[in-house]
Amino acid sequence: METKQFKAESKRLLNLMINSIYTNKEIFLRELISNASDAIDKLYYRSLTDKNIKVNRADLEIRVDIDKEKRLLKITDNGCGMTEEELENNLGTIARSGSLLFKEENKEQKDVDIIGQFGVGFYSAFMVSDLVKVESKSVDSEKAYTWTSKGEEGYTIEESDKKENGTVITLHIKEDSEEENYSTFLDSYKIQELIRKYSDYIRYPIKMEVEHTKEKEVKAEEGKEAKKEYETVKEIETINSMIPIWKKNKSTVKEEEYNNFYKEKFYDYEDPLKVIHVSVEGQFSYNALLYIPSHVPFDYYTKEYQKGLQLYSNGVLIMEKCEELLPDYFGFVKGLVDSPDVSLNISREMLQQDRQLRAIAKNIENKIKSELEKMLMNDREKYDKFFKAYGTQLKFGAYDNYGMNKDKLKELLMFYSSTEQKLVTLKEYVLRMKEGQENIYYACGESVDKIDLLPQVELIKDKGYEILYLTENVDEFVLQVLMEYEGKKFQNASAENVNLDSEEEKEQLKKLNEENKDMFALMKEAIAGEVQDIRFTHRLKNHPVCLTTEGALSIEMQKVINQMPNNGALKAQTILEINENHEIAKKLKDLYNNDKETLKKYTKVLYSQARLIEGLSVENPTEISNLVCEIMAK
Ligand code: ADP
Repeated sequence: METKQFKAESKRLLNLMINSIYTNKEIFLRELISNASDAIDKLYYRSLTDKNIKVNRADLEIRVDIDKEKRLLKITDNGCGMTEEELENNLGTIARSGSLLFKEENKEQKDVDIIGQFGVGFYSAFMVSDLVKVESKSVDSEKAYTWTSKGEEGYTIEESDKKENGTVITLHIKEDSEEENYSTFLDSYKIQELIRKYSDYIRYPIKMEVEHTKEKEVKAEEGKEAKKEYETVKEIETINSMIPIWKKNKSTVKEEEYNNFYKEKFYDYEDPLKVIHVSVEGQFSYNALLYIPSHVPFDYYTKEYQKGLQLYSNGVLIMEKCEELLPDYFGFVKGLVDSPDVSLNISREMLQQDRQLRAIAKNIENKIKSELEKMLMNDREKYDKFFKAYGTQLKFGAYDNYGMNKDKLKELLMFYSSTEQKLVTLKEYVLRMKEGQENIYYACGESVDKIDLLPQVELIKDKGYEILYLTENVDEFVLQVLMEYEGKKFQNASAENVNLDSEEEKEQLKKLNEENKDMFALMKEAIAGEVQDIRFTHRLKNHPVCLTTEGALSIEMQKVINQMPNNGALKAQTILEINENHEIAKKLKDLYNNDKETLKKYTKVLYSQARLIEGLSVENPTEISNLVCEIMAK
């Protein structure tokens, strides 16, 4: 019998499969079952138009058989089958999708990725078997043929006496090696598990002979209870459920069913916070089942975390994590998408450009967003819980890429409110704004309690304004990219330009600062280079000093930026403000006239105090401590 050679490309792919170091070899079964299902599809559709082909829908099925002794795994379908020519063309040459992938130069690592993510169809059988036999009879041919190959050396085709149309693929499973336990693919439970894992939703029954232990019927002896006896029976069973939960009508699925599915599929011990079930039909069609986990995945903020949704093409799993389906800021969402418009062998390169997929992704993003908005409106308690878990992520989403997505996310953001003493949205803040209030006030610090004690905050609170307390590093950066909300600008309580005085008061203060200009110059000298300016203020009520900033960079932002590696000495432009109504102001003027040396010491102490209030460290604490004691001892 003639041994034919594989085409060059096929040989390469085959070689890759046979020597595969890919660990997820089990996917071969998914590939073969999915081919079987396609073949049945083809036959069924043919039967709808071709009177000569008679098909009973109920008979269409896939069978999986195991012969442990002979190390054989058999996958049988009663689909369209293949003619001799088709066997030659389809199995001797790799499929179109495969060839596309191989146009590029692949490194070994990339090959492994390809197997994992897209599967490579029929040839994946060679990952687990050293001999593959394909016996097939086409509906278009009287004769049946058997294609046989041990791999690279080539293949043979000979006639067979198969009578019914369809295909039987017989794999001789490789002997176990040190690295690989191939025998697991001869274990009935393992095969059942794989069918449920990858092919549960195939629309035709996947049947297997399954062993059961059953109670035997035993007649009881008179006056005695019947003894229990058991026997092992073999039964043909359908392993797959055939109907995916996401294709069911929403109203027929119980919450518990959604939750159980989630916990099993995504390995969580807790029910999800939210289930989103989407069915879209039209220009593109898809079903999606999305979950927001109740708690942040433990590795969420690490590099290991991979966002993405499972991708199915008509019930067949084609990718575990399709990242293209989720924007980063919704990266915590788990779930799956099933679309008949996505090809089973779509490649990663194609994924990114795939119009259907992009449209689906956009749709999913909008859906998640609108569901969150609904939750915010209708179930605040739940939204609070959501925001505590994922708020930081949303804020990063608003800030990232220079605020490219800020408008999509701004309604979902919340910050702590000084008046409400809980998290509030920007919309709620603006609705509560006082008449004539022009700005949205905010103040930053390590904790709500600490911010509440800031001298700069007190007067704004006293005037009855609500202040947003920002405690997370990213917060102020978010407000900076937002710039404004509904026309209201954000105003840092610690910025030099907080404008609470009347015109008259402003005028008075200006005059006062002008009069004491020389004194401030001397004080500035005492803390050379540390501050932009020193001046009197009215904003401090009873507190003596504070540090404010001028320009875009606040003290909190300076702290955050300087914490990052390779970001040395970035400095906010600070101003030391001294309360003109405080006793200390009088004292300073006094010292300026009579004891300039002591004035310098006072300045150093005042500046250190202002820094401490802001949560900044003091450069030379010993010097300051000595100075304070010197002054105290006087
Ligand atoms: P793909 O399924 O991506 O086309 P495969 O390598 O898995 O690539 O299969 C190649 C071709 O072989 C299929 O397109 C199909 O025409 C044919 N084929 C494979 N398995 C079967 C089967 N069980 N019945 C009929 N045809 C099949």
